[in-house]
Amino acid sequence: MNAMTNMRTLVLNADMQPLSYAPLSIWSWQSALVAVLQDRVIEVRTYEDVVVHSATQAFEVPSVIALKRYRKRKNVSFTRYNVFLRDEFRCQYCGEQFDIRDLTFDHVVPRSKNGGSNWHNIATCCGADNLRKANRTPEQAGMKLRRKPYEPTAHELDAAARRLPYPRERLHQTWMDFLYWDTELEG
Ligand SMILES: [Zn+2]
Repeated sequence: MNAMTNMRTLVLNADMQPLSYAPLSIWSWQSALVAVLQDRVIEVRTYEDVVVHSATQAFEVPSVIALKRYRKRKNVSFTRYNVFLRDEFRCQYCGEQFDIRDLTFDHVVPRSKNGGSNWHNIATCCGADNLRKANRTPEQAGMKLRRKPYEPTAHELDAAARRLPYPRERLHQTWMDFLYWDTELEG
């Protein structure tokens, strides 16, 4: 069964929403199965026609599980990916969307002028605009920020993640009832 290695389990919070969208909450099927057998989570859906065997028993493999108790959302961590996600992979100066490898960060108030590395001073920026702005404030460079950087909530990041297209082949069909993606996915 070579498909086994690709099988993963979508993890829902107790409200039947994904535990997180950014990144999507996914466990290995092995961890999910153990949690089901230990009665720590609820098995919501299983992979059809897939059975794994122990010495004495056969088990269905969970494709979607849910936590029994609601887990409160934590604050969002200040990471490279989360900054890009907050800005929806858009340069905050020219407004164009770029691949992650073509994006960089701008310190709105430059580090040389005591601008900090934090949610309120870091904006997603394309390479060209980063060069153009150089070691200046937006005012000095004559450039305009489209949106003042801010600290997003977990819900705001989830909403941004839902608007991004997600590679369809990575989503099992049993997950679809629990994911509310925009229609780009159909394209
Ligand atoms: Zn740009």
